[in-house]
Amino acid sequence: MTSRIYPAAVDVIIVGSGPAGATYARILTEEAPTARIAMFEVGPTVSNPPGAHVKNIADADERARAQLLSEGPGAHDDGDRVGGIVKTTQRRARPGTFLLEDGYRVEGEDGLPVAAMSSNVGGMAAHWTGACPRPNESERIAFLDESGELDGLLAEGERLLGVTNDAFDASPHASLVRGRLAAAADAGRAEHARVQRMPLAVHRRDDGRLVWSGSDVVLGDATRANPNFTLYDESLVTRVIMEDGRAAGVAVTDVRTGESHEVRARVVVVAADALRSPQLLWASGIRPAALGRYLNDQAQIVFAVRIRDFVPATATEGAAQAGLSEYSGVTWVPFTDEVPFHGQVMQLDASPVKLAEDDPAAPGSIVGLGLFCAKDLQDSDRVEFSEHEVDRYGMPAMTLHYTLSPRDHAVIDRAKAEIVRLGTAIGEPLDDRPFMMPLGASLHYQGTTRMGRVDDGTSVCSPDGEVWSAAGVFVAGNGVIPTATACNPTLTGVALAVRGARRIAAGL
Ligand SMILES: Cc1cc2nc3c(=O)[nH]c(=O)nc-3n(C[C@H](O)[C@H](O)[C@H](O)COP(=O)(O)OP(=O)(O)OC[C@H]3O[C@@H](n4cnc5c(N)ncnc54)[C@H](O)[C@@H]3O)c2cc1C
Repeated sequence: MTSRIYPAAVDVIIVGSGPAGATYARILTEEAPTARIAMFEVGPTVSNPPGAHVKNIADADERARAQLLSEGPGAHDDGDRVGGIVKTTQRRARPGTFLLEDGYRVEGEDGLPVAAMSSNVGGMAAHWTGACPRPNESERIAFLDESGELDGLLAEGERLLGVTNDAFDASPHASLVRGRLAAAADAGRAEHARVQRMPLAVHRRDDGRLVWSGSDVVLGDATRANPNFTLYDESLVTRVIMEDGRAAGVAVTDVRTGESHEVRARVVVVAADALRSPQLLWASGIRPAALGRYLNDQAQIVFAVRIRDFVPATATEGAAQAGLSEYSGVTWVPFTDEVPFHGQVMQLDASPVKLAEDDPAAPGSIVGLGLFCAKDLQDSDRVEFSEHEVDRYGMPAMTLHYTLSPRDHAVIDRAKAEIVRLGTAIGEPLDDRPFMMPLGASLHYQGTTRMGRVDDGTSVCSPDGEVWSAAGVFVAGNGVIPTATACNPTLTGVALAVRGARRIAAGL
């Protein structure tokens, strides 16, 4: 499946090996098995099978090494690979990610001070939490609902990501936490919008251990066994080659040797995350008006509480817990237009955000609440690229323009009040007020290569993901999502990638 010898030509090139790129590889494998596919990934392979989640690596030192290898060209070990971002305004990256070094805030704007990326086979999904809720109400993409396609695409995304609902069913405190949240939040909500178990890209092995899905699960055995699919790691795509207005291949640099190569293809899929996909298009001279615009991140409010009337789990329940503590599972409070936040309530050590130390005397007694807010979309929120400056990869340097609008501030204030209300329904707050994470902490950047029904200057690509002004160039990932979601976006990004991949398969 992996190789160092670049081919002269293939049918489809995929740039980026996160879940969006992996979706293209898997669907093409299933629906166009004779298509020759090359996937280029700038980062190294850090897990086995390639793209596997690093949480599945049992040895802590090996896991730390895999995280470090994912942290880009300036990676260094700061000695804290466990908690990542803490409740401070410091610029700190979570393990497996690295921050945009410069250009994250412009004077007089809010910026995204902790905008982050991962560079490794599997992308950020080798480090993610795996929450895979479906979008709700205005989070959904109206033109795909009108054509009756969205739910089918989301279901296909759930299949590819291996989404389950029952991995934490044995958690001793799950129903208690859920019940208290439901009593506080469910009144007036339609059934699908009520408090429920969070769909997660995780499954439990027969021996009880949890296995977190990464791109390895999306690729699946089918892609790994496909003789026409090859993954090239440590390979930086620097340019999409265009001829006569359509895709003709890419220029790719072998990061280990510094040598550049041209690989020809009829179709190029750019799935290089919501900041680096527009970067590559821009570097290739593909610059539609909406490129990089409508950048949106979800402001994240957090709060930790100690469960009221907590009864510690029995020894047997404790013994069932391998690896992570699994005392209260992960609970979802869906977004609605009326209550415009996406709620995620989880056990502390399953949380990617370190909110507090768990209580060693009563493990599992503290849960963290997170509310994610949908952004008020503005075309002025954007990533811009420099004609002269470059980043550590030698690609055009980024500058983020990003401002919270008065509406954003109003939603954030409501979220702060709501999180206290939900938290006190579960137990006793650890702090007297909720904390807003530095902007960018959600890691859910969207909109920069957004999809539109028509080419009216406010979108970059068609509903198939094909760039309006560049035939044969497809974009994939969260950047394609045109709506302001508050929920975790990967499932939606993967669902949209399914549609694009099917279109390519039909064309081949
Ligand atoms: C700690 C953490 C928790 C998270 N929790 C959740 C969650 O619970 N639910 C959720 O939905 N999302 C979550 N996310 C976000 C989720 O991981 C991303 O939404 C998802 O990985 C995006 O997939 P992608 O394929 O679009 O991009 P990525 O996974 O970012 O992959 C893009 C890849 O492209 C590569 N690349 C970039 N430029 C180039 C180039 N020029 N040439 C070659 N390769 C290139 C990058 O190295 C990278 O590997 C979390 C992320 C983290 C880090």
